[in-house]
Amino acid sequence: MTDLTDHLASVRTRVCDALKHSGRAPDDALIVAVSKLQTADAIQAAYHAGQRHFGESYVQEAKPKIERLSQLDAVWHFIGRIQSNKTRTVAESFQWVHTVDRQKIAARLNEQRPPFAPPLNVLIQVNLGNEQQKGGVEPAAVRPLAAAVSAEPRLMLRGLMAIPPANAAEPERRAQFEQLRFLNEQLFAGGYSVDTLSMGMSDDFELAIACGSNCVRIGTAIFGVRER
Ligand SMILES: *Cc1c(COP(=O)(O)O)cnc(C)c1O
Repeated sequence: MTDLTDHLASVRTRVCDALKHSGRAPDDALIVAVSKLQTADAIQAAYHAGQRHFGESYVQEAKPKIERLSQLDAVWHFIGRIQSNKTRTVAESFQWVHTVDRQKIAARLNEQRPPFAPPLNVLIQVNLGNEQQKGGVEPAAVRPLAAAVSAEPRLMLRGLMAIPPANAAEPERRAQFEQLRFLNEQLFAGGYSVDTLSMGMSDDFELAIACGSNCVRIGTAIFGVRER
């Protein structure tokens, strides 16, 4: 597992450098290690190398891993598409969800969040590339969904998340990151206490940080290429 330790150290250094480059504090961005399709052992190794936040995309795959690792004080982020019949596991097993894009899903998560747990941290996913097959609300729908999420007592609206189109070139990517930041600032100005901008993956996290990201979701650069 020395590779993993090295990868993690290198990602941390690159995140720090990108923050420094923007005149920000070295701890201003949260690194979510995307552990989808990785084994519980690999996650545990990352944990022992100091990683605490992990991102998972598939409820069924994540659940047994989270149960097996329940002794660790890891923080679990759900970053995949949410089907309405899988909301219970998201509400019960995760502390964060980055991909809320419908009021119905927000209502179900609120209802299913266990009463003894703190409110579930919610990011609204925004579809900036107008991609049919991708989740997320259009920019004009951010405000009404933010109002709906904020009205749910068991949910805590924390900010926005986006995934630019996989083939987008740097100028388009930059424009989308800047737009997401603008949308989050508009929410803040509108009285929502949002503090999280989830954008940036293995191939573009430095650009995302330059555009204001403070939450990067990194899989391949930490765990290596996914097997499946
Ligand atoms: C898989 C995934 C990531 C991580 O992608 P890498 O390119 O492996 O860093 C980040 N965000 C989401 C939403 C993902 O599905």
